Amino acid sequence: MYIPYGRQCISEEDIQAVVDTLRSDYLTTGPKISEFEKVVAGYTGAKYAVAVSNGTAALHIACMAAGIGKGDEVITSPITFVASANCAFYCGATPVFADIDINTYNISPESIEKCITDKTRAIVAVHFSGQPCEMDKIREIADRHNLIVIEDAAHALGADYKGNKIGSISDMTTFSFHPVKHITTAEGGMVTTDNKELYEKLLLYRTHGITRNPDMLSKKDGAWYYEQTDLGYNYRITDVQCALGISQMKRLDKFVEKRRELVNRYNEAFAEVDEIVTPYQLEGCNNSYHLYVIRFKTKDRKIVFDKLREVGIGVNVHYIPVHTQPYYVEYYKKNGLLQPECPNAIEYYNTAISLPLYPELSYEQQDYVIEKVLELMS
Ligand SMILES: *Cc1c(COP(=O)(O)O)cnc(C)c1O
Repeated sequence: MYIPYGRQCISEEDIQAVVDTLRSDYLTTGPKISEFEKVVAGYTGAKYAVAVSNGTAALHIACMAAGIGKGDEVITSPITFVASANCAFYCGATPVFADIDINTYNISPESIEKCITDKTRAIVAVHFSGQPCEMDKIREIADRHNLIVIEDAAHALGADYKGNKIGSISDMTTFSFHPVKHITTAEGGMVTTDNKELYEKLLLYRTHGITRNPDMLSKKDGAWYYEQTDLGYNYRITDVQCALGISQMKRLDKFVEKRRELVNRYNEAFAEVDEIVTPYQLEGCNNSYHLYVIRFKTKDRKIVFDKLREVGIGVNVHYIPVHTQPYYVEYYKKNGLLQPECPNAIEYYNTAISLPLYPELSYEQQDYVIEKVLELMS
């Protein structure tokens, strides 16, 4: 038996939805894409949504739509997947790392403030593990410095911040539908926004910078006519994937509910264990728990990690602080920039471990994980 840290949850209905699409007229760029976009926009409360090939593509076109370019700086968290920072590089900009808050593990608004220069253009706020960032404070800082806010909500579909669903708050919010995330399309991503101008740019960048919109064409040549007005990419998602996404969205609330229930069971089991720091609950928010991360006060994380892996528990570490990745270290060095210092991120990284969490994790499996963790704490 091997219990992974996360995995997809696929029903017969999901499979049927994919098969039906394979038998339809459209494998890609048919009716399923806009249907999926409408479902996610409706769920999050956003006006517009643009589905793309993966969450990284979503971040890339969001940065492009934000007008991020050469010479700009983009502030993000070091405790995230590399994609949250790489999107700045894709646009020729420099990623800048603010430190995390040691309780929430999310980007610290105070630290963001310290990172702002006259080159800062945007903040990419990552809702780590499904815990919403302090968006009021981040918005206030962004407004004061005229910055765009992009939320990387790859972990946070289904979470809410002060009564608003994640996806409806900032200029743009990006999602990922990789199999370990809340819902899956195998590979897939989305950007949500309330801003029509940004929406139209996102559509353009998804498909090579090509438009057929009559209002955007410089001349009328015929029904076949299109123009490339900008440089975009092929970041299209397929109808087959979107059929799976639509079907998965029907069970999203159930998935999140089950994740929260499993988190409560973990929290209860570890409540009396002085050695273990369980997740912090930010007031007024509902975490959708993509990950269940605990930290050890004194135990050697590596020993615990290896022992749990030995007994078939797929623990993981999320994440290696991005600014310590060789590519980043080299980039700052090459450009004569100071290496970012994020002491909280380093402390977090040295002590954290992610335990298995996904909707189909059974109580028996979870009890086994709990038992093995507790054994190592004595
Ligand atoms: C998964 C993830 C991404 C990238 O999504 P892909 O769909 O794998 O490209 C970006 N940011 C975070 C925080 C993620 O967890």
